[in-house]
Amino acid sequence: MAANAERASDAQILAAARALLAARYVIALTGAGMSVESGIPPFRGPGGLWTKYGEPPMNGYQIFLADPKKAWEDRIRRQDDELWGPLKVARPNPGHQALAELEALGVLRFLITQNVDDLHRQAGHQALAEIHGNWKLIRCIECGARFKAEEIRLDVLPPQCPQCAGLLKGDTVAFGEPIPPDVLRQCVDHAALADAVIVAGTSATVYPAAGFALEVKQRGGQLIEANLYESEISRVCDLSLRGPTGEVLPRLAAAVADLRRARLS
Ligand SMILES: [Zn+2]
Repeated sequence: MAANAERASDAQILAAARALLAARYVIALTGAGMSVESGIPPFRGPGGLWTKYGEPPMNGYQIFLADPKKAWEDRIRRQDDELWGPLKVARPNPGHQALAELEALGVLRFLITQNVDDLHRQAGHQALAEIHGNWKLIRCIECGARFKAEEIRLDVLPPQCPQCAGLLKGDTVAFGEPIPPDVLRQCVDHAALADAVIVAGTSATVYPAAGFALEVKQRGGQLIEANLYESEISRVCDLSLRGPTGEVLPRLAAAVADLRRARLS
């Protein structure tokens, strides 16, 4: 993909802000494009980690289940490699903050992210589902409980769930691993209520996440895209806001706040 200098116009931003305020229930779907500006390389595409190092095995979950002790040893050894390093130092960018502002304004009701980087939480976002997990958390694959990494002792591998003694795994969803049912349930429930979706920093081609946006569209809802690049989902979007999400989303949040103030005064 070539560098794209195209930027959303003020009129496009205003139209998107109006659409958000006219909607009853707005959700957002976010992906890797949100985090590039925080220094996290994407997996796919130019400069992507998988492009460079090859895709991880498609049966990662089965490999984990076959030998959890070895999988944990590998995980501990990889803590400082090229993927984990950027995750440790990354901080939310203005795009994450803008979505948290839209939530605080009462406009954005729920956020579904494909990112595992924790940056939406660090920006203060409250109502969210991390469909591919969160790299900072450990999850019990028996009872589904989640723990902060520092709460789990690693002197015996694999570690056991403090609640049910079940097998613990990183919360990040591996290839071949089902999306955790509690997260999937939340996504289904909120998507069913939605009549507008902000699709930010994702081409929305990876299922099941993509399906939530398309389902809202099929019911007559609006899709508003914020992305640097045109992508597979652009042609079904009602409004496409071109530009880095760290630039476009703050403009959108500011426009929503201005319209809100103007209506209240
Ligand atoms: Zn458990």
